[in-house]
This record gives sequence, structure tokens and C-alpha cells, in this order.
Amino acid sequence: MEYKINTIGVLTSGGDAPGMNAAVRAVTRAAICNHIRVKAIFRGYKGLIDGEVKEFSSQDVSGIIQRGGTIIKSARCPEFQTPEGRQLAYQTLQREQIDALIVIGGDGTFTGARLFAQEFNVPVIGIPATIDNDLWGTDATIGYDTSLGTIMECIDKLRDTATSHERVFLVEVMGRDAGFLTLNAAIAGGCEAAIIPERASVKEQIEDAIGNGRRKSKNSAIVLVQEHAIEGGANAVAKMIEQEHPEYSTRVTILGHLQRGGTPTASDRILASRMGVAAVQALLDEQRNVMVGVQNEEIILVPLTKAIHQKKDVKEDKWQAMLTLSI
Ligand code: ADP
Repeated sequence: MEYKINTIGVLTSGGDAPGMNAAVRAVTRAAICNHIRVKAIFRGYKGLIDGEVKEFSSQDVSGIIQRGGTIIKSARCPEFQTPEGRQLAYQTLQREQIDALIVIGGDGTFTGARLFAQEFNVPVIGIPATIDNDLWGTDATIGYDTSLGTIMECIDKLRDTATSHERVFLVEVMGRDAGFLTLNAAIAGGCEAAIIPERASVKEQIEDAIGNGRRKSKNSAIVLVQEHAIEGGANAVAKMIEQEHPEYSTRVTILGHLQRGGTPTASDRILASRMGVAAVQALLDEQRNVMVGVQNEEIILVPLTKAIHQKKDVKEDKWQAMLTLSI
């Protein structure tokens, strides 16, 4: 189908991630460079429904590349999951004469975008921004590297106090259904164990961790727990350890939203900048319903359906490295 894109809408949605601003900046400036107007949609799909839209100039995205969070705000929007909500969203596009959408977010954002694109025949491009790095088809998502660094710093600080006492420190890490953030942070932080949803029974993982610690005669340990590996998260693991191994005293730290904050790393800023430019180029190339990804340093396009539905695997060598190096 022949179509000409004069105006792009850009939004950030779902969980915020450091580097989203760099992506908004890149989309805005790449569009303007190609003589396309850009309209920022505030508060994700909520703003699309409510018509919270503002045209952006190059100056509107000045001085934001280093800022965490998202200046155009994000939101969870249950109304967009209803046909009536999406109809209202489409009316905003028509009223604002927006021809295509670039959505910056994660799995949920893309699920909504795909549905919307199908229903109203709107070209949509996704830019993966989530600290979870759980989208198939891309080696990295915007925000992941920054979050990993933040978690690692927290572990380093906890290590100082952990080695001063004989305790098991349990640190709860975000990640929705995926253990990438937890496992990689465990490697980077030199942790004794990581409990992630991709591995068998949590009980077994705990016994392994305790067994390893004993064999290696360690008197303190830091164990990362992915928030959804077990109902109740790190607190539930602490309870299990104290019941089964009363000789160990436990301390729980829930990093929570700290993990989303902070100034984006160089790596996230570069990724966001490349992906933003590539998303605009994809629209110029008449692509639609794809996610921009990066594989082996190359920018690629992945069908949204695949990015959402295919499962990304935890690399076995990383799991083995974490176990091997915890002596
Ligand atoms: P993320 O994009 O970080 O995974 P969410 O899962 O919260 O975040 O999704 C962001 C938004 O995407 C939701 O608030 C909702 O508006 C929209 N969304 C998620 N799932 C669907 C769906 N199945 N149908 C339509 N919209 C959806």
C-alpha cells in the first residue's frame, strides 16, 4: 500500500527505563532531519486516549540524553486493553493527523501496539526499552545496562556489611518473568547464588546455594532472588532458609524502584540513539509492525509478533559461570 508519512507520534509506555529520553530525542531529531513532524504523546496509551499531545521541536529534546526516567511520562493504561479505549486512541491519531506511531516500551506496550496496528491499519514501530531485557530478537533493551550497573553497586555495598557478619543476604531483583537481570547481576556482583524463574525448583536452588556455601566454608553469602521466582520473593526464600537451616540468619533487601533510576550508561544512550534513528528509517522504508533490535552489534528489525511471543533463553554458560565462580 502506498502511504506517505508526514507526522509521527512517539510515546513511552509501561515500566520506565533509563535511556527512554535518549530514544525520544533520537526519534524526534531523526524525524525532523527527514522533514517529518513529531508529536509527543504524554503518559503512554493514556495520553493517546486523552489526547495529551504536543508537537516537538529539536529544542524540546535538548539536555535530556543524560536524564533517567522519561520526560514524556509513562503510564499503565487498562483502558487501552478494551476496544472502546483503542477506538478513542485512534480518534486522537485522526484528530492530530498522526500517520504512524513509534512506541518505546516493553512486552505489554508491544502487545497493545500490535493489536492497535491490526485494528486500525496504523504503521507501528517498537523500540525495546525495559530493564528486564526479556524481549526476543534483541541482544539488549534500553535501560538494562544501567539497571545492571545500579544493582551491582548495591551488591558491592552489601558485600561490605555481609562480610562483617555471618549472614545470608537475600536481595530481591526485578525482572517480571525473566531472570536475565538477576543472573547477570549475580555474576557481576560475585554473588553466591541466584534464584531465577528459568531454573527448576526454588527449593533445590536454595539447597544448592546453602550446600555450596558449606562446602566452600563461607560464612556469609549474597543470594539474588528474582522477584517472581517464588511467590513472596526474597522474603519467602528467607523464611524457607530459616525454617530448614536455623543456623543461618538472613537479611532481606528489596531494591525495588531504585533499579529503574539513575543516569543512563553510555551503552544505553548509544543503543537508544541508534534505535531511535533506525525506527524512523524503518517507517521511511515502509516497514510496519516491527521492533528495532540489535544483534551482534547490527541493528535489525524483528516482527512484533515474534518479539512478544518467542521466549528468550538464559545462556547456560552464564548460569555455569555463576555457579563455578562462587567458591
Ligand atoms: P511494559 O510495556 O513495560 O511491558 P505493561 O505490561 O504495563 O508494560 O504494558 C504497558 C501498557 O500496554 C498497558 O498499560 C496497556 O495499556 C498496554 N497493554 C498491555 N497489554 C495489552 C493487551 N493485551 N492489549 C492491549 N493493550 C495492552
